[in-house]
Formats: sequence, structure tokens, C-alpha cells
Amino acid sequence: MTTPYHAPFIFPVQNNGLVVGGMPLTRLADRVGSTPFYAYDRRLITDRVAQLRAALPPDIHLHYAIKANPMPAVVQHMAGLVDGFDVASGGELKIVLDTTMPPGKISIAGPGKSEHELRQAAAAGIVVNIESEREMEILARVGAELGIRPKAAVRVNPDFELKSSGMKMGGGPKQFGVDAERVPELLMRMKALPVEFYGFHIFSGSQNLRAESIMEAQRKTFDLARRLAQDAPGPVRLLNLGGGFGIPYFPGEQPLDLPAVGAHLTSLMPDARRDFPQAEFVIELGRYFVGEAGIYVSRVVDRKVSRGHTFLVTDGGLHHHLAASGNFGQVIRKNYPVLVGNRVTPPAGVESATVVGPLCTPLDVLADKMDLGHAQVGDLIVVLQSGAYGLSASPQAFLGHPAPVEVLL
Ligand SMILES: *Cc1c(COP(=O)(O)O)cnc(C)c1O
Repeated sequence: MTTPYHAPFIFPVQNNGLVVGGMPLTRLADRVGSTPFYAYDRRLITDRVAQLRAALPPDIHLHYAIKANPMPAVVQHMAGLVDGFDVASGGELKIVLDTTMPPGKISIAGPGKSEHELRQAAAAGIVVNIESEREMEILARVGAELGIRPKAAVRVNPDFELKSSGMKMGGGPKQFGVDAERVPELLMRMKALPVEFYGFHIFSGSQNLRAESIMEAQRKTFDLARRLAQDAPGPVRLLNLGGGFGIPYFPGEQPLDLPAVGAHLTSLMPDARRDFPQAEFVIELGRYFVGEAGIYVSRVVDRKVSRGHTFLVTDGGLHHHLAASGNFGQVIRKNYPVLVGNRVTPPAGVESATVVGPLCTPLDVLADKMDLGHAQVGDLIVVLQSGAYGLSASPQAFLGHPAPVEVLL
């Protein structure tokens, strides 16, 4: 049997239909009440956290970077599973402050934090990852105005890269963090300011499937932190090692070898505990927690044949799922794993079809020339691996179509 999609079957299949959150997809669509929609399976998220806990050393704490999926219900669910949150804006901060997560376990990162955001963060008592001298000065001033000492960690732009990452976020010239070589000077200035030095945040990249690259970056991260700690105004209480664990999206990609990463990190921990006796060690992940637990579902509204090629026109598209259209950081467009959710392994065989959305632009493609079940109007098209960087990373206002529903099952 050729499976019409290339990701492992993480969702069960019964009677040719996908089962999501314990319910056949067609019934789920009725339960949701409209298409398109995003559905996230909380059991898969819970399982993923458990896999990480089993593989990583026990004193590695797990933080969820909520920009991967900021749906409030998902964030509430995560609050009971992870050790902390990382947010990237005042808007995301509001979402996590509605959970039971203690403020000391929340951090904010991102370039260009406004005075307004820094004041909110200081007042909330969360850790601010400082990304420039300017941010540090403003944080100290708003703290003094509020009569508190804000918790300040330094986000470092490392002097190395996370090799083979989908997105590099450190090494070379970057808008993120303070260049490693300039950190000693910044720490010197920090000594004179009314802020509480908390530690370092060293994030080098994202969407990495190569265990060796992650292992190398983690080793270099500890070494860099050791060097920087010599100039620190106080003990390192928080050492955020970044993350970057990727998930497979495209044909031929293999899942990350998590046990290898865990074993290597375990070997680094004795020295790390000795050198940073007061530190909490954090790995911060987004997509690895939630990416595989989510699907995007749209309905076929038209079936057209143009010069011998079949187009399935759906009610969903790039305005809800920019990443699946290939326009969110892909250099060469590749298909996400897509299938006809109610004809997964069709008895009548597969056909090559292109799945498009209703937008009047050739960019609005969800699957290009893929082998799919022979779909009819009314069938459900599923994009897998859609739990991260889906709706919130898409231009919903483009062309003025209705917003999709999001459900957590
Ligand atoms: C985006 C981001 C993350 C999450 O990246 P993933 O690839 O989703 O794991 C973590 N930390 C920081 C600082 C980020 O900007």
C-alpha cells in the first residue's frame, strides 16, 4: 500500500478515515460546526512532554515558547505540564499571566521591546531577556519607578551557529541578543544598575533535525556561559540553553534522535552543576511540543480539471496556514503532509491533484501535485504537522475570508 502522505501515522485511521481526539474526522467536523478549522490533540501534547522528560536529565527544565501556538486553551494545558513559559510580546505575556505559572518561571525575549512591554514585564515580576543596552537602561528605570528590582537575564548572540537549522537565530550579525564579545561590557554597566542579574539566554536556532548539531551547540553554549559568567554581577540563576528541536515536515526527513540528545546532555550535566551551582537549566521549545499534535482541516468546495490536471479548491488556504503554502521561510516549496481525511487509503486508488485555497493568488497552494485519495466536493482535506506556526503565523486579513475555528480536544 502506498500511503498518500509521508509522515508517520500519528493519528489512527479507521474505515479509511482519520481519527482525531478519539473521534472520526467527519464527526469532528460536525462537532466543530464549520470548516476550515484547526484541531489540537491534548493527549499527543501530553505524551510529547513525557517523552522529553524521559529522555532529558531531570534537572533540565522545559519551557514552552508560546509563539509556536498561543491559543489560550493550549497554553492553559501546557501550564500544567511544563516548568515555564517564554513569551515574545506584551500580548503573549497577557495570555500566560492568565495561567497558574509563577511569574519567576516566565521570561520575555525578542528584539525591540517597548518601554510599555518592559514596564509590564517588570510589574509582573517575570524575567526579562535583555537584547540591547537600551533595553537594560529602560528596564532599570521602570523598575526604579515601580520600586522593584527587575529580573534581568542577558540574551546572548553566540559566537557560533546551530548548524543545519531551519532558521538560524544566532551567530554572525543578528538582531537577536547582545553579541557575545560585547556582553562583558554590558555586565559591567549592569553592576551599577538597580536590576537583579538572573542569568543568560543563549538561543542559536530553530527547526533542527540533526542530533549532532544540537549536541554541539549545547556543548558550546555551556562553554560560552562559563566564559561570560566570569564577568557577571552575581551567580547565574538561570541558564537558558535554547532549544531548536525540529519535527519532520517534508519527504525524507527523519525525526530528531531525542535519546541521543538526552544522553549527550546527561554527560554534560556534572560539569554544568559544578560550574553553575545555583542555576536552573532550561530548554525552551515551541514546535516540538505542539507541532505534530495539530491538524488544519478544510473542505473541498470545487473540483476542477485544467488541461488534464486536477485542482481541489478548498475553503481554506494560506490566509490560515501560510507555512503549508510554502511562504513561511521555505526556499524551495515542498508539500506538507496532506491527505483526504475521509479517504485516507482509497480503494479506488490515488490521483495526482493540487490542493488550492479560495484566494485569488497563485501562492495559495496547500499541496502541489500530490498523490491523494480521489476527492469529491464536501470531502475534508487535512494538513498534518500543523500545531505550530499555523493560524497565528498567517495573514488572516488577506482577502477578507472568515476566520477558522480552533479547538483543543
Ligand atoms: C521562536 C523561539 C522559540 C521556539 O522555537 P521552536 O522552533 O518553535 O522550538 C524559542 N525561543 C525563542 C527565543 C524563540 O524566538
